[in-house]
Amino acid sequence: MADIIQLLPDHVANQIAAGEVVQRPASVVKELLENAIDAGATSIKLIIKDAGKTLIQVIDNGKGMSVTDARLSFERHATSKIKSADDLFQLHTKGFRGEALASIAAIAHVELKTKQEQDDVGTTIVIEGSEITSQEVVVTPKGTSVSVKNLFYNIPARRNFLKSNAVELRHVIDEFHRVALAHCDINFMMYNNGSESFNLPASNYRQRIVNIFGNKTNEKLVPVNEDTEVLKISGFVGKPEFAKKTRGEQYFFVNDRFIKSAYLNHAIASAFDGLLKTGTHASYFLNLTVDPQTIDINIHPTKTEIKFDDEHTLYALLRSAVKHSLGQFNIAPVLDFERDSSLDTPYDFNQKNTSAPSIEVNRSFNPFKEEQSSRAGTSSTKQVTFKKESASNWESLYIGLESGSENEPSDFSEVQFESEETTASMFDNENDVEQVHTTYQLHNKYIVSTIKSGMLVLDQHRAHQRVLYEDFLKNMTIKETVSQQLLFPLQLHFSVQEIQILTQLKEDLEHTGFVFSNVTEESVEITGVPVSVPESEVSIILEQLISDVENEVPDAHFSAMDLLAKSMAKSLAIKTGQSLQKDEQEHLVNKLFACKEPNVSPTNKTTFITMSVDELDKRFI
Ligand code: ADP
Ligand code: MG
Repeated sequence: MADIIQLLPDHVANQIAAGEVVQRPASVVKELLENAIDAGATSIKLIIKDAGKTLIQVIDNGKGMSVTDARLSFERHATSKIKSADDLFQLHTKGFRGEALASIAAIAHVELKTKQEQDDVGTTIVIEGSEITSQEVVVTPKGTSVSVKNLFYNIPARRNFLKSNAVELRHVIDEFHRVALAHCDINFMMYNNGSESFNLPASNYRQRIVNIFGNKTNEKLVPVNEDTEVLKISGFVGKPEFAKKTRGEQYFFVNDRFIKSAYLNHAIASAFDGLLKTGTHASYFLNLTVDPQTIDINIHPTKTEIKFDDEHTLYALLRSAVKHSLGQFNIAPVLDFERDSSLDTPYDFNQKNTSAPSIEVNRSFNPFKEEQSSRAGTSSTKQVTFKKESASNWESLYIGLESGSENEPSDFSEVQFESEETTASMFDNENDVEQVHTTYQLHNKYIVSTIKSGMLVLDQHRAHQRVLYEDFLKNMTIKETVSQQLLFPLQLHFSVQEIQILTQLKEDLEHTGFVFSNVTEESVEITGVPVSVPESEVSIILEQLISDVENEVPDAHFSAMDLLAKSMAKSLAIKTGQSLQKDEQEHLVNKLFACKEPNVSPTNKTTFITMSVDELDKRFI
């Protein structure tokens, strides 16, 4: 049989590579601006026509290229920035893959003009669909100008796929902002269809932000600065009261490179916890400087995703730095205070006798029988810290009742624990006396409980939704999860479109505990499910999820996770009408108050109300 394998011609290979590097005009803008920065330019001009569909030109005053380099720059894997794979771990430049110019030249008409300082004349090269059509000597100032015309002229499908000019221009401007924010020491200009859109002089960071986002931004900025051995953080966060409904102004830069990280974004969101109105998002402009050896930028062709060696530490540092700044600027305490008062936290907390550590852990975690038994076989999870907090917070509500929280149920048989500490305290209390229950269920719908100031009534369905939602979100974010193996794989059938949605969500679903062993065009095979999910519910949950996603297309990775967590919480939460055992009731109450936002359900509905003795007294007058 004849040999059938052949090498792809260069221009085809370049077109394929272009598919990864160049999705839209904004991608070209990013690559060209980055090349100009790498060339040491102090002034960079971006010229756009028709949102970049007709023309994208970047002119810089950087170091330029020699005649040979000018030609070589369009070769694939041609780069002056790294020489060996080792250099990848010491990157100080934006580019290094050596494929941007080659890719762009494969799918557009490109004209390059460049001159080095010491040369009298420069070089101009015209290249169309990877073919050099002319190379000449030219009189041009020091630096480089790259014009990219008629993007995707030879790939009609891609060209038709481009969005309206308004949308594409928005992307171009976003990209311009990102680059300009990462390099406030460089003068950037942008012209759109012949008129000036931005002129950003070299300045300090605050000034750069204000120049881009307008004078009003100035008063909104709270500086964040932290200098540790592993990480340097500098920049600003927006004051909570100016938080926006959209996620627009959220910028992370790592070693001067804009990156997207849902994980680090979560660190900031959690630093703002309780300070933001629900549904609003904090702005931030933060620069992280880390040792280049501890990150891997190479994982994504557009270089916007980075892998950190030690994400957990970064998370913690970032969160505490932002918290600290918010606190210093007197933002956090005020609002914290308001928030706590709604829970009526007793102020005699300090006078309370020091209690044994056991009190901090509610060993009665009795998460609804099935959940518990299914967990019995799994190894430790990292939830205890969470729970500890919970119990202690909640405990404070009980202060004043003689024995409330001190009496722990004695059934330890199925309790999962992870730390030595927990284990020790468990045994200390093994002989605890009988339980005193402080909750009642009303109409299989509400749970009533006594608290120091009076009473509390919570909606079991909404409260449980909140608990599950935060659990899922946390698992997805920290990517630590426990899943239960199914004895027999579960085969579920869906439409092609539904499978597409599931595939998009697959990774996040896996972080909740799902294990997909096989995904075909019309079915999925599942071999593991989250511990809290009974096997019989799996198909209902996934169906619900798909319909939720269809109705609300998530715009960013993070909101996809959010949607997923909401949807699963909704499906799995205890329903109204379900009768709960005493310990289940208590467990729910404890878990709710361990939540970051116990007051509302994930869909923003009230989860509990309180009524003080005073209010009751008034009723009896
Ligand atoms: P990379 O940036 O990953 O090296 P590119 O394809 O973007 O790959 O560029 C290839 C090479 O062309 C660069 O390594 C650099 O040497 C040269 N180059 C590109 N743009 C410029 C510029 N504006 N000024 C000077 N040299 C440039
Ligand atoms: Mg480059």
